[in-house]
Amino acid sequence: MTEPPEPAHHPLWFQGQVQTAVRRSGGPLVLARGVGSRVWDDRGQTYLDARSGLWTVIAGYGRPEIIEAVRTQLEALSFAPLTDASSSAALDLAARLVRLLPGDLETVALVPTGSEAVDTALKLARAYHTAVGRRKRRVVISREYSAHGSTYAGASLSDPDRGLLRGMGARLPGIRFVPAPYRYRCRYCATAEACSLACVEVVEETIAAVGADRVAAVFAEPVPGPGGVLVPPAEYWPALRAVCDRHDVLLVMDEVVTGFGRTGRWFACEHWGVVPDLMILGKGMTGGYQTLGAVAMRRHVSEALEGRLFPHGFTYSGHPAACAAALACLRFVEAEDLVTRAAAQGARLLDRLRRALATSAVAGEVRGLGLMVAIELVEDRTARTPLRLRARDLTRLDRDLRRRQVLAFVDNPIILAPPFVVTDDEVDHSAGAVAATVNTFGGRGGPPA
Ligand code: PLP
Repeated sequence: MTEPPEPAHHPLWFQGQVQTAVRRSGGPLVLARGVGSRVWDDRGQTYLDARSGLWTVIAGYGRPEIIEAVRTQLEALSFAPLTDASSSAALDLAARLVRLLPGDLETVALVPTGSEAVDTALKLARAYHTAVGRRKRRVVISREYSAHGSTYAGASLSDPDRGLLRGMGARLPGIRFVPAPYRYRCRYCATAEACSLACVEVVEETIAAVGADRVAAVFAEPVPGPGGVLVPPAEYWPALRAVCDRHDVLLVMDEVVTGFGRTGRWFACEHWGVVPDLMILGKGMTGGYQTLGAVAMRRHVSEALEGRLFPHGFTYSGHPAACAAALACLRFVEAEDLVTRAAAQGARLLDRLRRALATSAVAGEVRGLGLMVAIELVEDRTARTPLRLRARDLTRLDRDLRRRQVLAFVDNPIILAPPFVVTDDEVDHSAGAVAATVNTFGGRGGPPA
């Protein structure tokens, strides 16, 4: 029998990739198995997964407790709509989340993904203002370097430079962008000793320019992850909270990446004692074992909306198996004290990387909070000129890291975000692998010392 001809196109569309580039690079990485922080590909090659899948696998791969919880749930009840019915898993998870969340974030809307949670939060913010008689408030302020997902609202709220709507027409109307606190490259105070909080003033100026009676919400990640692990100065979040309060603008924090311990606190906003009006959740909630997102609402938001119809919902919102996975994942994180562990292993990773890259000509800044760490590459450490990486440089970086058995988010900056169960040896190995790989890139002054 003759083999059928190779198809002209790969049958699987790869997300966010140039399809031909995936083929040219020798095809996709096909993952077959995972245990703890390690994965194996279909050829038996093993890697330390310093991406936690896509920031999701916080409790590690192959956790029997989570797998068993999903199986038990599916055997008992494999689907329940969240409209006129519910499952005990969804009810238990909502109660669990409310106990875990800070302040009076007392109601949660469950949705299938982080992006759908972003859409839900945008609608909730506008519906809230309508409910309290401020129906002109439709404008939303978002920030540079932001990543809020791939649905139309998520892409519209994401930094235009991410190009998520390239070639697709206009973003949703009514979205304004303001600077994010990015100390290393701040246009206001990068070289000053202390942050001037000028970027918070810009938010207030933007509200004034639009007209406070037209602004519904500020959307922001507490620490932008995909945008480069931008850890804000201590004064930033209380100052932004105060601006929102002064103008009755809702503060919506997107904790899809940072929630559930990634930064060394259950929720990143707890580092600064700030409670958002709406909190967006996803990714790590189920440890990556199922798909789930959520929007948590403070009491004044849910009370304003309680007597009204909010015409919104997804078929797969709060799937019982996803809720069971989340309950089991959160139980595991709590039982193993993994939030404390994320803080400790994150500090170790940051320390190892900083030491290994101390003399590197191209490592401009190594920064992080908990288990999210970025290595920003520069041509010149003094001038902080960004190192421009072409597609083939990125391919080479990725290939070199994989050769050293590490999967990272390869871009500039390089980002590491391993599972919270990552061991000391694995942390040290990943830091060594990244340093060795980075040091193969010479700065403008020639090869690094
Ligand atoms: N919000 C943030 C901060 C994200 O990083 C992402 C995805 O990376 C999303 C929202 C969208 O989540 P999802 O991909 O689950 O739709």
